[in-house]
Amino acid sequence: MKIIAGNWKMNGSQSALDKIISDLSEIDTQNTVILCVPYTMLNTKSDKIAIGAQDISKHTSGAYTGEISAQMVASTGAKYVIIGHSECRQYHGDTNSDVREKATQALNNGLIPIICVGETMDEKQAGKTMAVIESGVRECIPSDINTKIIIAYEPRWAIGAGLTPTSAEIADAHNLIAKTLADMGLSGTPILYGASVKGNNAAEIMSISNVDGVLVGGASLKSDDFIPIITSVK
Ligand code: PEP
Repeated sequence: MKIIAGNWKMNGSQSALDKIISDLSEIDTQNTVILCVPYTMLNTKSDKIAIGAQDISKHTSGAYTGEISAQMVASTGAKYVIIGHSECRQYHGDTNSDVREKATQALNNGLIPIICVGETMDEKQAGKTMAVIESGVRECIPSDINTKIIIAYEPRWAIGAGLTPTSAEIADAHNLIAKTLADMGLSGTPILYGASVKGNNAAEIMSISNVDGVLVGGASLKSDDFIPIITSVK
């Protein structure tokens, strides 16, 4: 059983979400399916599909115009939240320290954080991939946690680019994350791979050791693209 999470980014509409949830409810799968949608759609209910947000504030409440707290997201019934996505790091300047604070907020409010780590192209070319991944895991996860979290390895240069690392590179990254999590007392934490996952590469990616599922951007927007990813694995 795998975890298949979609990230709609700033795309979609309520009618498109209702349609995909209806289509996804028809398929026979044991996999956990999550859709992380824009805030305006978080109130959507489904028996089969879990709903998540794409970011939260690191603050509890107060004068933070435009921000949404973990408590507000949790009050919609959403169960998950993506934290530290590449686009939040790039456009909002989120650092590992911000990600850790946001993860703390998520956990304090009963949300399961999907914490993203991964290297930029510059970091990859400088030979820093493994160091960035390990420091990301160590610095983004709050200490003393006793509830579930999910880690997503997302090579930032590959997101939305139609590019993927080699299977050996994905295996190295996921093995390092699993080893680091074990060292932190967090063995068994699911580790997703994300960046340019499609129906034609999903099964191969999810057959790699320590890949417990995928985080999917563009290909999660339409049933025709998302369902083949979900049904590619048992
Ligand atoms: C993402 O945004 O998390 C992502 C993985 O995007 P894509 O699948 O489009 O590369």
